[in-house]
Amino acid sequence: MKKISQSKLTQSVHAGSAGDSHYKGAVTPIYPSSAYDYQDLPEILYPRYFNTPNQKAVAEKIAALENAEDGLIFSSGMSAIITTLLSMLKKGDHAIFQNDLYGGTMHAVNTEFPRFGIDCAFVDGSIPARFEEAIRSETKVIFIETPSNPTLKITDIKTVAAIAKRHNIITIIDNTFASPVNQNPIDLGIDIVTHSGTKYIGGHSDICCGAVVGSKKLIDQIRKSAINTGGSLDANTCWLVERSLKTIVLRVRQQNQNALTIAQFLASDPHIEKVYYPGLPDHPDHAIAKEQMPGGFGGMLSFQVKGDAFRFMDKLKLIKRAVSLGGVESTITSPAQTSHSKISAAERAAAGITDNLVRLSVGIEEAEDLIGDIKQALSA
Ligand code: PLP
Repeated sequence: MKKISQSKLTQSVHAGSAGDSHYKGAVTPIYPSSAYDYQDLPEILYPRYFNTPNQKAVAEKIAALENAEDGLIFSSGMSAIITTLLSMLKKGDHAIFQNDLYGGTMHAVNTEFPRFGIDCAFVDGSIPARFEEAIRSETKVIFIETPSNPTLKITDIKTVAAIAKRHNIITIIDNTFASPVNQNPIDLGIDIVTHSGTKYIGGHSDICCGAVVGSKKLIDQIRKSAINTGGSLDANTCWLVERSLKTIVLRVRQQNQNALTIAQFLASDPHIEKVYYPGLPDHPDHAIAKEQMPGGFGGMLSFQVKGDAFRFMDKLKLIKRAVSLGGVESTITSPAQTSHSKISAAERAAAGITDNLVRLSVGIEEAEDLIGDIKQALSA
């Protein structure tokens, strides 16, 4: 795929569009065929080969937004992550993960990989030296996620990428929380970027998908495994994802602004014990976040409520209690009850995931309306 050097706003609208050569319509048509002529086309098209027109259109748009050469669209974020890892690892290999990971990734790695003889280490992502200390001769992959879920810790992307390069190790980042609007890890030396597209890429809480982008060479390697694992996305949903992406820059900019305003309000409210948001100057890694997130600090923030967090969530009227994140509507969860319920209480405690911690996914509503809802729930 050709790298397009345009602004993100322009890329979000135009990159990847397959065009409509037949009727000259303004948008990519939907190509639902699962059967294509195998002689007259340069390659055999088939949905599980990740090469049908709608799959390619949306993968190209995400790759353009991430400044990557190539990409693949998957049926879920987990499919994208696990297929990518399996394509890079084999029996006897070692992989290093930061310990502050999406609970589902941590669970999948801990339950599936030992059965295939892949050894995994978990280190504190906020201290880059920990990655280097954990490297062994069998280490093939370093996997990071920043900002992390749910305590919004920051991993220094450039430093970790440089450590990995020195040791010839592939780096993978889960860029879901930042979105391609705020942070582009390929520019910072990372090899492969994954997304749960179910979040900001879909953006409307109505699509499940995943994406992987990187160099053409690495994406070709991942595609070979993806054809075997089969987590492809259907044409209709690809088309919806392409449509959603046309507004990702506008959505995420509004979410960044709203989240910062809400974080500032919470930081000064006496009902709140602690706020976790990389955009606040007192966040321990605010300076690194500012450098590696030029588009903004994101729409995700967490905070600890003094008292009963479940009662606080019950009292909210506008902000919905719901799992997942990144939609245009604001949603709130208890990570201990949801995303991190599958890890042990001891692992939760080590990661700072207390019962009074709530995670807010800020939508595109008016910030003052969201603050009004939080205020009334806190005082109730
Ligand atoms: N990565 C992060 C940071 C997530 O929050 C999630 C889901 O919540 C995933 C990956 C997995 O994505 P999916 O649910 O689309 O499989």
